[in-house]
Amino acid sequence: MNIKELKPLLEQIVGAKNVSDDPISLVVYSRDYSSLPPQKAQIIVLPGCTEEVAEIMRLATRTDTPVNVRGGATTAALSTSKEGIILDLNRMNKIIRIDEDACLYLTAQGGTSVYQISKELDKRGFILSGRPMFGPVASIGAWVNTVGIGGNCARYGYFSENVTGIEVVLPSGEIVRTGVNGLHNCEPYCRYTHTSDLTGIFVGSRGSMGVVTEVSCRIHPKPESCGFITLGYNHDNFDGLLKAVNLIFRADIPDTIDINDDGVGKIIGIDLPLPHMISMTVSGHPDEVARKIKLCQKISAETGGLDLGPDVASLIYYGGALTAYIYKKEGFGHLVFIDSYWHSLDAYPFLYKSFKEILAKYGLHENCIFGWFMKGVGCSFPVVAYKEPEQREAMNQAWTEICDAWFSVPNSAPGMSVTSTTKYNLDPLKPTHHALLRSIKDTIDPNNIMNPKVIPYVRRNK
Ligand SMILES: Cc1cc2nc3c(=O)[nH]c(=O)nc-3n(C[C@H](O)[C@H](O)[C@H](O)COP(=O)(O)OP(=O)(O)OC[C@H]3O[C@@H](n4cnc5c(N)ncnc54)[C@H](O)[C@@H]3O)c2cc1C
Repeated sequence: MNIKELKPLLEQIVGAKNVSDDPISLVVYSRDYSSLPPQKAQIIVLPGCTEEVAEIMRLATRTDTPVNVRGGATTAALSTSKEGIILDLNRMNKIIRIDEDACLYLTAQGGTSVYQISKELDKRGFILSGRPMFGPVASIGAWVNTVGIGGNCARYGYFSENVTGIEVVLPSGEIVRTGVNGLHNCEPYCRYTHTSDLTGIFVGSRGSMGVVTEVSCRIHPKPESCGFITLGYNHDNFDGLLKAVNLIFRADIPDTIDINDDGVGKIIGIDLPLPHMISMTVSGHPDEVARKIKLCQKISAETGGLDLGPDVASLIYYGGALTAYIYKKEGFGHLVFIDSYWHSLDAYPFLYKSFKEILAKYGLHENCIFGWFMKGVGCSFPVVAYKEPEQREAMNQAWTEICDAWFSVPNSAPGMSVTSTTKYNLDPLKPTHHALLRSIKDTIDPNNIMNPKVIPYVRRNK
């Protein structure tokens, strides 16, 4: 069915004012945070409730129309599409329940922004598990779909590990609730029951399995007090830096710990005396905070580091540094490339060196690496800013080379999806892993209408 025939049917479901194919809207929806060229959508639909989503999905399946779910569009290259429906969840933005008395969880509609939720929790003396850096628009439904990393993950785990259940609309239009909420008599207070964990199928699936219309997750008491500390290290002391991170984890010190480079210093307007930093937040009773900071200082002295004080970490976590960077840097704006990569702690020195060397070769000097750590597991977000059109080609070439280098060492894995569809995302999957994924996808979405371009659910051609 063509889009002209589809439009009145969509209007019947959500009302005419919530469907748009006017040229300006299509241009507005043609971009997300990626550096890739815009893709002009065909039609945009804004549902107001789960039932409307279900009807849209039934219609899309019947007419074999691709559906691309969109929240705040802050990911790279995942929330635009030139085919089919862009399903914008921004009208589904209500906090449904905060249970602060019994089970300590909340439920919000999938399009609710993480920022809005964090603000509401703050008033009540609670926090989400993660303190993200992506500014005010990113949504909680998308955070499940992209795993969810943030400040505090060293203490509470990734956001997805704090999810207690979701409501998801499948391509067939069926509405499924996961966790104990899949039972007749239970609220979504607990993820696990007597069956396999169905939530996990949707975590990290980037809109390719279903539309997440509600998310329930654990909430945590806001700590009594917080402290910050940053330790600096020299180029020739990666060993000391890695040792320090390990000792800090062994002593169970941090809520947040990340390794970043002086590019981050440039962003927040501080000239750092050393090129590498371990930035941390710690929490607890004020005496406990002071004890943890002292321990960090001791570890730093033992590993050849330098205590850079509390300001850098405080600016990173409470100054909105990375997001501010994007808006602040005139002329770079939306052309910042950002992605995420999993890696082990010991892979960091190689990742850092290859990243810097390759970018320098292509004259791309505006860059930084920012890596969250949870125990020895890192998730690094490299950021590179450049200006179109002159540097676009250089950027693409540099990025391919960086991926070649990064994925040549053990324990590097794509966090979202990187430049080449098959080479880095699909080829490394073991056949049995890919076969199982493929059969789950085929069962849930036999016509492959949900975000069909998402890797690794594309078909392997060999
Ligand atoms: C400056 C910057 C900083 C960032 N910092 C962080 C950070 O600290 N931590 C972090 O985890 N990420 C970070 N990111 C990445 C990104 O912001 C997150 O992944 C965020 O969760 C995306 O939310 P969104 O609403 O913008 O999603 P979108 O970009 O709209 O969508 C992301 C993906 O999820 C799918 N999707 C969206 N909503 C739904 C839904 N309800 N159901 C099914 N599929 C859906 C989309 O189809 C797409 O594939 C950062 C990005 C930027 C640009």
